[in-house]
Amino acid sequence: MDANLAPEAAIHDVIVIGSGPAGMTAALYAARAGLDTIVLVGPQLGGQVALTWEIDNYTGLYEDLTGPELVDRMVKHVEKFGARLVYEMAAAVDLEVPVKTVTTDGATHRARAVVVSAGASSRLLGVPGEKELTGRGVSYCATCDGAFFRGQDVAVVGGGDSALEEALFLTRFARSVTIVHRRDELRAGPQLQERALGHEKIRFVWNTVIEAIHGEGRIDHVTTRRTDTGEAGRLDVTGVFVFIGHFPNSGIFAGKLDMDEHGYLIIDEHMRTSAPGVFACGEIADPVWKQIGTSVGQGVMAGMAVEEFLSREETFAGATA
Ligand code: NAP
Repeated sequence: MDANLAPEAAIHDVIVIGSGPAGMTAALYAARAGLDTIVLVGPQLGGQVALTWEIDNYTGLYEDLTGPELVDRMVKHVEKFGARLVYEMAAAVDLEVPVKTVTTDGATHRARAVVVSAGASSRLLGVPGEKELTGRGVSYCATCDGAFFRGQDVAVVGGGDSALEEALFLTRFARSVTIVHRRDELRAGPQLQERALGHEKIRFVWNTVIEAIHGEGRIDHVTTRRTDTGEAGRLDVTGVFVFIGHFPNSGIFAGKLDMDEHGYLIIDEHMRTSAPGVFACGEIADPVWKQIGTSVGQGVMAGMAVEEFLSREETFAGATA
């Protein structure tokens, strides 16, 4: 039965909210265990990995695998085992009842168990000009927008793995890439540091933050301030790529699932949230590691935990029937 055509009639075994590596892996394990599984894809099929070009930290897969290719393989893999992708976004949930409800903009879906893997979103700088010039020079995805900056001078904000990885990607197109970092020490791993520090197109502006982004319809320049001396500055760039971390997409679970002070869902070692039959995996429940590998690992555990939960529920139902 198509979940989109007759949502009220279907009670699925599992609804997976989110289609990144964690959710797709949970769906794979659930579907392979014979469970009727739907995946609510969310705003970006494949999650953040779809926005990554180069993957070189996922064991055994490297060099020739891009983020979009990995997503394509994940989709084929879960569909091969019968999981169904539904291109909708969860907007509201009722998780307290035995049959849980997830409402989207298009339908209402019901299931006996839910896996929450809605991931995380990019943090914004929060400076004047950022919102107005998003899509007109301000970007949070080098893979998506890098090619628009061929031959231009761009800035990258951040000192973590994302900033350096994306800066290296941008060197394919941009004439120069200036990494603006608020400290004089990078958070990124040593291998990325070595590549970025040695790259002829990349230069670093240390101890500096962007204070405002200026331009009418496109970026003309940014104004900066040193974090150590307070000195003001200016960078003539036409692109600003922001990679200053992420926040968990847990807004719709507020008051329904326990979370920490930053909004990350609290789970136990069986990926259980505070609501029975609701599991979580991936970056929405991971304030620390945030790797494809760790998300996949959590997805495996969530998929297996769901299967165990539903089979125990069936045994219980059978015994009392
Ligand atoms: P991150 O590690 O949290 O780094 C965020 C960076 O942005 C930090 O350098 C931070 O500065 C800076 N920052 C934060 N808020 C800022 C603000 N308001 N203004 C200016 N700068 C600000 O985030 P990430 O780089 O996205 O990485 C997230 C996780 O994904 C990490 O665990 C990372 O290892 C992983 N990741 C791994 C790879 C890889 O292995 N290839 C690639 C991408 C991401 P401070 O350093 O001063 O705090």
